[in-house]
Amino acid sequence: MMNNLTHTIDGAGQGSEGSFEVCDPSTSLPFALCPDGSGEQLDLAVLAARRAQRQWEASGWEARGEAVLAFSNAVRQELDSVARLLTHEQGKPLEEARAELMRACESMDSFSRQQLKSVVLRDDDMELVVEHFYAAGVAAVISPWNSPLGLFTLRVIPLLMSGSTVVQKPSPYTPLSSLRLGEIGRRVFPPGVLNVIAGRDPLGQWMTDHPGIDRVSFTGSVRTGKRVMASAAESLKRVGLELGGNDPAIVLADADVKKVAPKLLWAALRNCGQICMAVKRIYAHESVHDELVRELEALVSGIKVGSGLAQGTQLGPLQNRMQYDFVQELIADTRQLPGVRIHVGTETPSGEGYFVSPYVVSNVDDAARIVCEEQFGPVIPVLKFTELEDVLQRANSTCYGLSASVWSSDPKKAAEVGARIQAGTVWVNNHMMLDADIPFGGWKTSGIGRGNGLLGLQNCMESQVVRVLKTPA
Ligand code: NAD
Repeated sequence: MMNNLTHTIDGAGQGSEGSFEVCDPSTSLPFALCPDGSGEQLDLAVLAARRAQRQWEASGWEARGEAVLAFSNAVRQELDSVARLLTHEQGKPLEEARAELMRACESMDSFSRQQLKSVVLRDDDMELVVEHFYAAGVAAVISPWNSPLGLFTLRVIPLLMSGSTVVQKPSPYTPLSSLRLGEIGRRVFPPGVLNVIAGRDPLGQWMTDHPGIDRVSFTGSVRTGKRVMASAAESLKRVGLELGGNDPAIVLADADVKKVAPKLLWAALRNCGQICMAVKRIYAHESVHDELVRELEALVSGIKVGSGLAQGTQLGPLQNRMQYDFVQELIADTRQLPGVRIHVGTETPSGEGYFVSPYVVSNVDDAARIVCEEQFGPVIPVLKFTELEDVLQRANSTCYGLSASVWSSDPKKAAEVGARIQAGTVWVNNHMMLDADIPFGGWKTSGIGRGNGLLGLQNCMESQVVRVLKTPA
């Protein structure tokens, strides 16, 4: 049993008295013990972050950018071993884990060049008005289990760039690869700047309750996001929430189905569907609907499901038992719908792993649970539409508003359709492109605030306006 990873607190490694098991989702068996961070250890991490904060902020954008770049390079040096650890605990195919880590490094490189400079808002005979931006202070970053390292960098690094210091908590399902990033960070950042502490759900609540924390950046479910906001309200902590999604993809009548189908397939199935911004429901115009269903059914039939560490695996297991049971429940619910057509892709490996075949579901209506809930699994519902007004109304009939896509041979027309979808990001002829310099975030219950880009930096900083009357007092 692997048992060698520690928290990073004040620049040093620290174990805990307690520990919890981390399972390999391809076997469901524990393969590692993770230290279970205590309240006292959280206090130490927050204290260290507070001590380091002023100097870190005073070091300036250039110096912080250099440190972030050094971190990114140090992570690249260990890419293979960290990616393997990620696959072991999360389940995704090794190539996907490597891609997640490479993208994380590219994001860090991009963040290292971002700066939010003071802005002159007015300069006339009467008055000089300048807006300055300051770090929030000590920030808590609480992360989910689906893309631990991609989300570690997208949330932690802008805060570090802005001059805040950070205490990060990974999900108890996938804590190990984040602890590894914390270890790598010890070689690069001054003590206290980046603290990584693993623990179970109560540690998350202690963080949102903690009086020494100024800002909470939370990524996870809507249910927990509401609790985070309620807890942060006590001390009016600043909160950024990146929550769930039920992304629609609308395929217009003029789309080239053969080209679109494989792109839609992987926008729905990557990471076994466990991505907030994955395609979760497809609306196809009646003139292309049947052909698209046939294409998707043919494509899922060729997918290789297996352990993420096995050669050639395209679809790994779901990450944990709770998610596996939920997706099985949705599949059972879908099976009993009258008239529904269900196409099951390839066989899953035998054993106790959390494997689910990829499914294409059609002849299903909008009220079905598989359509209106966030499935977070490899099940793709395809729905038919005739009128544009009708499909827009159906796409927008959801409590979510993270992202969406429109597919057509006329990108300009598709962009006009996309502009009418209530979501933070709308892609045309694409889905899931995410860049460190482009703001991303959700409408409605998909979140509050934006990450990435200058808007993302602004969101995690405090603004101060200085107004100077030019007439002497
Ligand atoms: P979750 O809400 O169960 O847990 C997320 C984190 O919160 C974990 O670290 C957990 O330990 C912690 N936590 C649990 N209870 C807490 C509490 N009361 N206070 C503070 N922290 C607490 O989410 P999950 O199941 O790990 O993640 C899946 C969800 O995340 C999906 O809904 C997915 O769409 C969403 N997600 C959103 C984005 C985005 O950018 N919008 C990205 C990835 C995942």
